[in-house]
Amino acid sequence: MEIKLDGRTAVITGGSKGLGLAMAIRFAASGADVAILARGQEGLDAALPAITATAKGRVIAVACDVSRADDIKRAYDTVMQRLGKIDIVVNNAGQSRTGAFETVTDEVWQEDLDLKLFAAIRLTRLAWPQMRQRKWGRVINVLNIGAKTPRAGSAPTTISRAAGMALTKVLAGEGAPDNVLVNAMLVGVIVSDQIVRRHAARGGNVTLEEQIAEAGKPVPMGRMGTAEEFANLACFLASDQGGYITGTAINVDGGMSPVV
Ligand code: NDP
Repeated sequence: MEIKLDGRTAVITGGSKGLGLAMAIRFAASGADVAILARGQEGLDAALPAITATAKGRVIAVACDVSRADDIKRAYDTVMQRLGKIDIVVNNAGQSRTGAFETVTDEVWQEDLDLKLFAAIRLTRLAWPQMRQRKWGRVINVLNIGAKTPRAGSAPTTISRAAGMALTKVLAGEGAPDNVLVNAMLVGVIVSDQIVRRHAARGGNVTLEEQIAEAGKPVPMGRMGTAEEFANLACFLASDQGGYITGTAINVDGGMSPVV
């Protein structure tokens, strides 16, 4: 099955690295115009050639901290000015933040909710009316498997992610009559820039390959996933081929989650 995104315009937050970059490459190669959003200009500049190498349409990079409402509005306006419309929103930017419940301050809760939940609410709310009006839209919320199975010590991340799953379901119900489909993808452990950063921070004699192999051991499939494997499903959900799937939260985790 050839998956095509010709004529579609996608905005991908956290699109300069890791899963976001893999999705940007896949979407652009499948025919979409793509806007990537991230904070760091250096990362955005480095990502552009990787995306344009196989892109069929236009690709733009917009500096934006998605945890800030004013930044999201500015980035949205820039995308609209330069690409003219938005059909696909991928709320992907994020990072893990966990601690024992009594150590998580109000400030940390707020930062986590701003980065993960409110960023998705704000960007989707801006793009929502035009998607409904054109009777075609896709929203993909990137969460993690802890959203379904929050463990002790996993606040605030899993709670922000569970809220993202509830948001997915509410939006799916509201968007369905207008063919705006909303799904969540729940990450297990997937090789990305964040893994490379963790390896560098760890120091010592363990190589990156050894660390990746170690992180893959608890996975039933015995390995971490690749960003390309993740991007394949995202591309399908964003396409016409995924046209009857909405309101789902799909584990992309090599069988790691204990629940479906
Ligand atoms: P990476 O750290 O590799 O990439 C994160 C991307 O998000 C970068 O482009 C980064 O760019 C951007 N970003 C981070 N904070 C912000 C912000 N405030 N505003 C805008 N952009 C931001 O992460 P992954 O690709 O691994 O993760 C992608 C998503 O998947 C995240 O939500 C993550 O929590 C989730 N996830 C990933 C897992 C994994 O195993 N890889 C496991 C569980 C969840 P910049 O820093 O320049 O802003």
